[in-house]
Amino acid sequence: SSYLSKVPQGAADKILGIAQAFQRDERADKVNLVVGAYRDGGGSPWVLPTVREAEQRLIARGQNKEYASIVGVPAFLDRALEFAYGPGCTALSEGRVAAVQTLSGTGACRLAADFYARFLPPGTAAYVSEPTWPNHIPIFETAGLEVRKYRYLGADGRFDVEGMLEDIGQAPAGSVFVLHACAHNPTGVDPTAADWKRISDALLAAGQHILVDMAYQGFASGDARRDAAALSLLAEAGHSLALAQSFAKNFGLYGERVGSLSLVCADAAEASRVESQLKLLIRPMYSSPPIHGALLVNEVLSDAALRAQYDDECASMARRISDMRALLVAELSAAGSQRDWSHVTDQIGMFAYTGLTAAQCDALMEEHAVYLTRDGRISMAGVNEQNAGVIAAAIVAVAG
Ligand code: PLP
Repeated sequence: SSYLSKVPQGAADKILGIAQAFQRDERADKVNLVVGAYRDGGGSPWVLPTVREAEQRLIARGQNKEYASIVGVPAFLDRALEFAYGPGCTALSEGRVAAVQTLSGTGACRLAADFYARFLPPGTAAYVSEPTWPNHIPIFETAGLEVRKYRYLGADGRFDVEGMLEDIGQAPAGSVFVLHACAHNPTGVDPTAADWKRISDALLAAGQHILVDMAYQGFASGDARRDAAALSLLAEAGHSLALAQSFAKNFGLYGERVGSLSLVCADAAEASRVESQLKLLIRPMYSSPPIHGALLVNEVLSDAALRAQYDDECASMARRISDMRALLVAELSAAGSQRDWSHVTDQIGMFAYTGLTAAQCDALMEEHAVYLTRDGRISMAGVNEQNAGVIAAAIVAVAG
């Protein structure tokens, strides 16, 4: 028999497996709170009007479909870095940031992991928050790094700053710390500005490398600059810093796979050497990135009027999600819940980390067709005025 007959069944992805179960569910009133993708007030995916306008312009201009270079679309990279690091960033103005376009945030994290595996000493561990976006773990493991956890969410549901600082100090110097820039996934709990200063100082003192994963810039506060405050602080503090940037959520470009990986270097010559090595990783893997989404982001960020409109659109997504937090908590109370749900309105970004147990999550899915990940995380973007009452009633039925 063929070797293929001996290939074992792989485990379904934790998140995407539940999303598939939702698709198979035939109940008419089923609710999808699983995947982190924005939905409008009617529950539909939303293509940003500025992105549509940029698409029209590319067509009108007769944009061709030539290959990008290995590093991607250069103009996009310039705009993307300025969007993330801010126009006042010293490393950017000094031309010492090595950057390549990537297959969205996931591709950026994976390329970073491959780069670390090649250039950091064997045995270097990657530290991820407990909990974190589940994909972080296989991303670093597949690249050959050991993955360890640092404390993040305390038993009280708040950010455990002391625990994290202790773990930073106890990790071997030269470890990689993966940090969520804002809108922490899955908890929705972010460090304060004062916490970030302490985290930055501790990482510097302990000699750790940092990978900032920025998948939600603009989604936390509605203001992209404000959401990049932690990144700016870290970039100015002189860390060994890399940034995985995604335009999936904040530009609604999920399936276009637009992002970047950048590393802040000591000088332009070092940046040039680092870029040359990133190219050597990319070329045998996928040769060059897709261009369409990068051209769209470049178009929007290059035009002052489109950029201003984009800022409003991004803010409107953050605002709707924040409104839905308040609505859900009000509906929970109206449905007779005796529990304190204030964490749902305190949390920020795409998700609410409800505190529901795995058994309660299973009951929500099986008995009420309300789908969420089994850690109790719900995508707030899936909540709207039509379904908030149904969701609340289901939660009260399983959890009180
Ligand atoms: N990092 C975090 C924390 C995320 O939540 C996500 C998406 O859910 C990503 C990275 C990567 O997303 P993408 O590859 O779609 O940019």
